[in-house]
Amino acid sequence: MSKNKSSESVKVVVRCRPLSRKEESSGPAGGIVQMDLRLGQVILRNPRAPPSEPQKTFTFDAVYDANSKQRELYDESVRPLIDSVLAGFNGTIFAYGQTGTGKTYTMQGAWLDPEKRGVIPNAFDHVFTHISRSQSDKQYLVRASYLEIYLEEIRDLLDPNHTNARGLELRENPDTGVYVQDLTSCVCKSIKEIEEVMNVGNQARAVGATDMNEHSSRSHALFLITVECSQPGPDGRKHIRVGRLNLVDLAGSERQAKTGVQGERLKEAAKINLSLSALGNVISALADGRSGHVPYRDSKLTRLLQDSLGGNAKTVMVATLGPAPQHYDETLTTLRYANRAKNIQNQPRVNEDPKDALLREFQREIARLRAQLNYRKWRSKQKNEQMEGESWDGDREKETEGEEDEEVEKEAEEYVKLEEQRLEREKEAIRGDEYMVAEEKQRLLGEKERMMVDLRKEQEATEQLTAKYKAMESKLLVGGKNIIDHTNEQQKMLEMKRQEIAEQTRNEREIQQQMLAQDEETLELRETFTSLQQEVEAKTKKLKKLYTKLQCIKAEIKDVNDEHVKSRQELEQTQNELTRELKFKYLIIENFIPPEEKNKIMNRLIFDPEEDQWKFQPLVPAESKSSQMKKRPASAVGYKRPLSQYARVAIAMGGHSRYRVSVIFFILILTLAQEIQESRNKVVYEKLINPLTGSKKNHPKQLHNTLWLLLALNNPFHSLLIGCVWSTE
Ligand code: ADP
Ligand code: MG
Repeated sequence: MSKNKSSESVKVVVRCRPLSRKEESSGPAGGIVQMDLRLGQVILRNPRAPPSEPQKTFTFDAVYDANSKQRELYDESVRPLIDSVLAGFNGTIFAYGQTGTGKTYTMQGAWLDPEKRGVIPNAFDHVFTHISRSQSDKQYLVRASYLEIYLEEIRDLLDPNHTNARGLELRENPDTGVYVQDLTSCVCKSIKEIEEVMNVGNQARAVGATDMNEHSSRSHALFLITVECSQPGPDGRKHIRVGRLNLVDLAGSERQAKTGVQGERLKEAAKINLSLSALGNVISALADGRSGHVPYRDSKLTRLLQDSLGGNAKTVMVATLGPAPQHYDETLTTLRYANRAKNIQNQPRVNEDPKDALLREFQREIARLRAQLNYRKWRSKQKNEQMEGESWDGDREKETEGEEDEEVEKEAEEYVKLEEQRLEREKEAIRGDEYMVAEEKQRLLGEKERMMVDLRKEQEATEQLTAKYKAMESKLLVGGKNIIDHTNEQQKMLEMKRQEIAEQTRNEREIQQQMLAQDEETLELRETFTSLQQEVEAKTKKLKKLYTKLQCIKAEIKDVNDEHVKSRQELEQTQNELTRELKFKYLIIENFIPPEEKNKIMNRLIFDPEEDQWKFQPLVPAESKSSQMKKRPASAVGYKRPLSQYARVAIAMGGHSRYRVSVIFFILILTLAQEIQESRNKVVYEKLINPLTGSKKNHPKQLHNTLWLLLALNNPFHSLLIGCVWSTE
């Protein structure tokens, strides 16, 4: 399965949006973010620090300033990733940053303005253009899904009925990794269709929210595209490659206030950023490289992105910044986060011939339908031959596949028409036959009528089959459809040129970065000193440089420390509030719930790590569900009455007194006693009362009392006793 074992790091690019009008008018002139596009550096100025404090510099794979175009970012940083997905790799792009810094602008942009279309619409164009330009021996199947994670619940945005009100569940498959169970997946045949899917999802997202901005800042949106491609290999067999692309617009990275809220609201606040803080922990663990445990399981988002972070996917992270001075802290946090993510290593590999490829199923189904249609064609041909008594044209045997489909339909229609005409003719002949008896006429006409009906049914079946076949086949996209188009050729050239330029820029930046790093090391080696004075000067200069560096690092340490203290305080506060809540619940349980009820409930509870929730064990053990309830065993004379399966399970679960066998018995006996009393049936009465009481007096009242006594004692021994009573009958 693996093609490429080499590892590569997560690509991290940073984008800073322009100052908004409001920020321009309210704050001091200029932003705090400066960018060196050539070197891929972000320089951040602390608005509160004295001018002497050195500015903070971070280096990334690419940086995009306020003037950057959507297209630039796409061509340089995203296009190579989509190309990999089309070649069968898994790919992920996620936008990370504070609310209002341009995550959605970068991922989606303004759809109607070609200049402002974001990563997602550009990726749609890219995928379908690639397909139309590929060779005609390639078949593609493109599917899309759209989900969001809100309050740690997965919502299917393409499921109009929201059949899963409680949210979807995550499952793990050893071959394909983590996936969302029952997630809607739409087959898309064109850019228009996939855009429609995106629109439907966006609308579903907005419908659930009272305030869309607020909602999107608290939820993660994932658009998933699966591209399956089948191509004949050198061995002559068709091989399938599957590329999966995750396009992720994360929730706003700003800290959600947790302080001062209680109960449900506290839980909600804790959940909102759970996925994001878990993402941070996963990135830290992976970037650190030393800690063996990566906490993917801490949140739904990290589980879904497991492949993309340290797994077999290629990943691009777009960190978005705002230039306003008032957001300095958040901007710095984002930059640190992004800086850490650079160190994550992935091992991308091509997914070749995976077991779950849908394309393979489609191909099989199409082949099956085709065989059925061919059989029908053959049959109608046979009948035609019989009818016309002439042989078919030899040339018609050698049709190409495309023509064949139309031929199938035409021939079927032709056959039906001829048959109908023939039947009509025969009916006329029967009607016109003067020598035939009326009854016989009627019978023959009825027969012909039936044949007509059969014929129509047959035709309908063929039509349905053809429609199904066509529908299935139209879902598969075949390469090379538009290749002759001249404008397309020009566009292709233009795109290739653009790609080349983007590649060149990337390379240049890499070289610049390397040169800068080398310069610092080699400068001192090349220096020769002619005089002592010169040496002193050079060394002083170097000392100054190092001192500045030292100050930078000191400031960094202080910052990290402060941040750590702040988050620890927050955690402690949350912990205190949760403890208080816990104590409250404990108080209620201890004082108001009977201990036996509590124990019973506790015995039935099991923890489901998949869903991260406590669940009630089912009353009927899971394994017996499929094999149905066991039959109640037959009772033998003189033995205790056997228990029903239900009663046994109920007893095993800690048993409710309702299901105790003796009680059921006494109720039965009591009913009987009532009847005896009413009917004064002396035979039954004697049979029952004598062995039970040892008395010879025939008084129903006494029997009643004895039974009541037994019921009061209510113990299994007495059920045995009653068993004896029964056996004496
Ligand atoms: P987020 O999704 O991170 O909350 P948005 O994408 O909604 O942020 O962006 C907030 C506002 O900033 C929007 O009005 C958007 O048009 C604008 N904006 C963001 N990035 C840019 C950019 N690079 N160029 C121009 N406008 C931008
Ligand atoms: Mg947004």
